[in-house]
Amino acid sequence: MFPNAFEYYAPETLDEVYGLLEQYGDEAKILAGGQSLLPMMKLRLAAPSVLIDIGHLANLSSTTETAEGLTVGALMRHKAIETGHWQRYPLLGETAPWIADPLVRNRGTIGGALAHADPAADWGAALLALNASVEIESRIGTRRMTLEEFFIDLYTTALEPQEILTRVVIPAPKTGETFARYLKLERKVGDFAVVGVAIAVDLTSDGTIANAGIGMAAMSGVPLAAHQTTSILVGQHLTPALIKEASESACLEGDPQSDRRGSAEYKHSMARIFVERGLTQILQQWRSTQSA
Ligand SMILES: Cc1cc2nc3c(=O)[nH]c(=O)nc-3n(C[C@H](O)[C@H](O)[C@H](O)COP(=O)(O)OP(=O)(O)OC[C@H]3O[C@@H](n4cnc5c(N)ncnc54)[C@H](O)[C@@H]3O)c2cc1C
Repeated sequence: MFPNAFEYYAPETLDEVYGLLEQYGDEAKILAGGQSLLPMMKLRLAAPSVLIDIGHLANLSSTTETAEGLTVGALMRHKAIETGHWQRYPLLGETAPWIADPLVRNRGTIGGALAHADPAADWGAALLALNASVEIESRIGTRRMTLEEFFIDLYTTALEPQEILTRVVIPAPKTGETFARYLKLERKVGDFAVVGVAIAVDLTSDGTIANAGIGMAAMSGVPLAAHQTTSILVGQHLTPALIKEASESACLEGDPQSDRRGSAEYKHSMARIFVERGLTQILQQWRSTQSA
């Protein structure tokens, strides 16, 4: 199907974006990679009369790393993250290859994925595991909020109509070395998650968990941070017994819906299996770094 007719603007500065958002209000939509918005327009699930293509804005497609953390521009494409080197943030490189297919990854952006707020999307889960925040800008100024504050409901975020998501901020790991896994069950290659589990664990040299984050895709109406499970882990030694306890806890978190991808019961079980599998792989990796 063809989308409705629309006017197209390609501003080069944020000021121009703000002007267009003010001028057209609800009639306008921001266009980033177009990989969610354009399919919705073709299906007539969205019919904006104005598209504001932010692809020409400078400074939003790069990353900056400091001692405090990593700042990722909203226009970073999934593919650029997949091929980047993220020594202190291995979950980024673990997650990106799981998103869709190469065509979508070449165009889609991290900011667009977060703004679209699909509960089954992969970045939501991964960035919750990394305790990330987002920076949102408008003519009035910049505000920053945690991702948990940002995701309000199914396909709904805290973005106001005249705001734009500009950056994702990931805090630096404080102690130890970070180990990460992204596990995803999909019906076929390139599909959205039946269940996705993102795990990031900072381990000290004696195997104590200094920090842990677990994010889940498709386990709730919004991407979910598994706080109960991570609270079981932090401060403990990573052992098979602890992994078992954490995976049983993860199974109880979330409130997935039964749908064409699987029953709620199946999704709960897969969350348990993925937490157990991911943490076990991390334990094995940590042990091999100790014996090397
Ligand atoms: C076939 C297919 C398979 C896919 N499979 C997966 C998958 O397995 N996992 C997964 O996570 N995703 C998947 N996706 C979605 C993909 O990751 C998209 O790239 C992503 O959801 C949207 O990013 P985008 O840059 O293309 O945003 P767009 O489509 O351009 O925009 C999406 C929405 O966000 C708004 N928006 C975009 N950028 C901003 C911004 N900076 N500030 C404010 N609002 C903004 C737009 O107005 C629009 O409402 C798939 C998509 C397709 C087409």
